[in-house]
Amino acid sequence: MTPSSALSPHARDSALAAMRAVDGQPELDVLVVGGGVTGAGTALDAVTRGLNTGLLEQRDLASGTSSRSSKLVHGGLRYLEMLDFGLVREALQERGLLFTRLAPHLVRPVPFLYPLTHRGWERPYIAAGLTIYDGMAMLGKYDAGVPRHKHLLRRQVARIAPDFKAETIVGAIQYWDCQVDDARLVVGLARTAAAHGAHVATRVKVTGFLREGERVVGVRALDLESQQELEVRARVVVNAAGVWTDEIQEMVGGRGALHVQASKGIHLVVPRDRIRSEAGFIVRTAISVLFVIPWGRHWIIGTTDTPWDLDKAHPAASRADIEYVLEHVNAILREPLDHDDVEGVYAGLRPLLSGESEPTSRISREHTVVTPVPGLVMIAGGKLTTYRVMGQDAVDAAAHSLRTTANLTIRDSITDRVPLIGAADWETRSNQRVLLSRRSGLHVARIDHLLGRYGGLVDDLLGLVAERPALGQPLEGAEDYLAAEVVYAVTHEGARHLDDVLTRRTRISIETFDRGLRAAPEVARLMAAELGWDPARTADEVDHYRRRVEAERQSQLMPTDQEADEARVSAPDIV
Ligand code: FAD
Repeated sequence: MTPSSALSPHARDSALAAMRAVDGQPELDVLVVGGGVTGAGTALDAVTRGLNTGLLEQRDLASGTSSRSSKLVHGGLRYLEMLDFGLVREALQERGLLFTRLAPHLVRPVPFLYPLTHRGWERPYIAAGLTIYDGMAMLGKYDAGVPRHKHLLRRQVARIAPDFKAETIVGAIQYWDCQVDDARLVVGLARTAAAHGAHVATRVKVTGFLREGERVVGVRALDLESQQELEVRARVVVNAAGVWTDEIQEMVGGRGALHVQASKGIHLVVPRDRIRSEAGFIVRTAISVLFVIPWGRHWIIGTTDTPWDLDKAHPAASRADIEYVLEHVNAILREPLDHDDVEGVYAGLRPLLSGESEPTSRISREHTVVTPVPGLVMIAGGKLTTYRVMGQDAVDAAAHSLRTTANLTIRDSITDRVPLIGAADWETRSNQRVLLSRRSGLHVARIDHLLGRYGGLVDDLLGLVAERPALGQPLEGAEDYLAAEVVYAVTHEGARHLDDVLTRRTRISIETFDRGLRAAPEVARLMAAELGWDPARTADEVDHYRRRVEAERQSQLMPTDQEADEARVSAPDIV
């Protein structure tokens, strides 16, 4: 059977059937644990080298850190200031590759203003940094894809960003980086891996390892949808569990070399019209920087950086976090933002590496690959931008094991030449946007929105609308999205619960003041028709979502992390 990129409910069943070991058969070459950007990137790397590959994710694709980032595909000016040139160069190279070749439909260039507040030293200092930044991008292996930085005088800044406090700004430097919808990137990676033959199943939690002596030969897992246990055998298991890495290491008796410390970062989402600026901008804080990033009809503002050792599945933003962000962004704004301007809030956990005990295995300052016991590769750290390099390094480590134990010939990574699904016809379809609008009856702005989310796969969406015209209607309460996008999320993008669609396939949960409550019943109805939910089940999905929103709202009123966590965990995930 030809592999399909569609992550439908049927495809999940087939993937589980293909992975499930009965009498020790079949055996995968590589099983990846974790469906964040690292795991999905690793699965794509493995399958495109010719390895029989599986991926298990305990909740939804990108439900961990990989849907909660600042969504920048960037070199990281901060690392430049720390003189970590290797890391910045690697990330800038990946930025160019993603933007020009691998995911041009998902990755977008964004202009940023670096506002200058001191006369004299500041302009040459920042300009020197940005010259190196741009230079590294241009001298890399791939096209930089974005323009070089340029200097702006005070009055030019006032034209671009009239809402800046004029008295604090003496000028600015404009530079370019890129952004991506992180959750959609992960779904795109997982679908591309599936299109090349990887078996992908979400809502399957790995609970232990199968061992033969020292060696890891697979995993025990629980299908959270059916509550059935299963075994999956694999020559190598690659663990890409982000902030859950230590738990996975416990399953091999704590024999790990990686220690991941979670650090919380929160973001606020506010409507675009609350800040008049044609470009994103940076606000310096005492310890780091705050990004104010254009996001469709909104701004994303963040982030914070504080240790977190509470619930990893539901990191909660406290009132103190929100006030910290508001206070810092307000330092530069003429009209301050307040709590009433906040449409959405999200919190994520950075998987920071601490005190690893195997220095030889260290691949770069940002991510690390180790092989604590034969048959098990662990990868952690890194950033969204460098997921491809991480996947490559993880599979290189797995390849070493496969060569010695299975006598397999493993090819080098080819992911720098494997575009994500949707990339192929994106440019052609973009040129045809007016034609597509005329043919479908959808407004050109709507076609642009679809192109930016699905690329060349826009044909699938328009086909759905042609077949079922009602799906061409916007969702009530979340008019930026069409009903067709909900149906497609279920039939092609692996969405299985209401939260998957409202939070990750779309961003309705952070882009509407009611956090998606008004749209929830219609979205649930559309999903129910595809997934065969009865009215009780449909109501349960809506009820769980409501309770989640309520718990998050409560947590955001709490002064401390402890209290915010207690409020948030009061609303459990749907079982
Ligand atoms: P995750 O996305 O957390 O994935 C791990 C997955 O493993 C989870 O989905 C989890 O459910 C699954 N899992 C765990 N245990 C099990 C189990 N037992 N069985 C099955 N599955 C399991 N990077 C950038 O490049 N640009 C940015 O702008 C940026 N901004 C950031 C801002 C913040 C606030 C944060 C927190 C991070 C940011 N990052 C950024 C970093 C980037 O988001 C992360 O490095 C990246 O998303 C980590 O991906 P991951 O796949 O390793 O982890």
